[in-house]
Amino acid sequence: MTRTEHLERAAAWLSFNGIEAPRREVEELLAWILGVSRLTLLAHGEEPLTSAQGARFWEAVDRRAHREPLQYITGEVSFCGLRLAVTPGVFIPRPETELLVEAIVDQSDPQATLHFLDLGTGSGAIALALCHRLPRAVGVAVDVSREALAVAAQNAIQLDFAERLRLLFGDLRALEATALPLSSFDVIVSNPPYVPQEEYVRLAPEVARWEPRTALDGGVDGLWAYRAIARQAPLFLKPDGRVAVELGAGEAEPVQALFVQAGFTSGTLIADFAGIQRLYITRRP
Ligand code: GLN
Repeated sequence: MTRTEHLERAAAWLSFNGIEAPRREVEELLAWILGVSRLTLLAHGEEPLTSAQGARFWEAVDRRAHREPLQYITGEVSFCGLRLAVTPGVFIPRPETELLVEAIVDQSDPQATLHFLDLGTGSGAIALALCHRLPRAVGVAVDVSREALAVAAQNAIQLDFAERLRLLFGDLRALEATALPLSSFDVIVSNPPYVPQEEYVRLAPEVARWEPRTALDGGVDGLWAYRAIARQAPLFLKPDGRVAVELGAGEAEPVQALFVQAGFTSGTLIADFAGIQRLYITRRP
C-alpha cells in the first residue's frame, strides 16, 4: 500500500473513533515516523511504506484511536517556538499559555535581569520560554510532580538553559516548606490547575483520561490554586513584584477579587483568541 492509502485508512479509523481532524493527525503521525515534514510526505504520497514503517505507523494510529494525545505519541510539543519533550503524566502546554509568556515579555526590559518563579511548571514550558525570550532572565520552577520535574530538567538541558533555571520539588499550598528564597522575585507566573470539579468530568477524553489530574483539577470552584498563590506570593515577591496567572473561563472576577483582598492592585485582564479573559497580571504595591 502507498503512503496515501495508509493515510486514508488511518484517517477513517480515527474519524470512526471520534477524532475531529483525523487527516491532519495521521499526516503528522506518519511524517513523524518517516522523519520528514508533512509537505514532503504529501509530495511523495505514491511511495509505499516498508512493513516496518507500516507497523510503527499503525501502532501509533491505534494509540491515537484510544484517544491518547498526539503529543504523547510523538513525545514532543511546540511552545513559543521551542520544541519540548512531554511524556504521559506531564501536562501538555497549550497555545493560550503562550500569551502568558508574551505578556510578561512585553512588560519586561530585555536588558534587565528578571528573576521569575514559575509555579506548577510541568514540562517547564513557561519558564524555558521566558529564558528563551529574555536572555537575562533567571528563575526557579516548582512542581509537585517528580515526573514533571524530570521532563522539565531534560528540556532545560536540551535547550541549554539549565544554568538559568533551578527546578524545585514543592507543593503550591506549602511553598514555605520549600527552599525558595524570600522577597526575591520580580514576577511569579503560573498556569495552575483551574478546571472546576464539575467541568472536569466533561473534559475531552484526551485530557481527562491521559493528562495528569493534578495539573488540571482546580477543586470545587476551580480556585484553590489562586487562593494559595495570593496568600503566599507576597512572601516571595520583591516589593512591586508582579503576579501573572492563566485563568479558566469565568474565573477573572473571582480571581481578581482574591488578589485585591490580599493587597494586590486590581491589575490587568487579557483575553485569549476566543475572547475569554485568560490572563491576569497584578502587582503588589
Ligand atoms: N486549558 C486547560 C484545559 O482546559 C486547563 C489548564 C489548567 O487547568 N491550567 O484543558
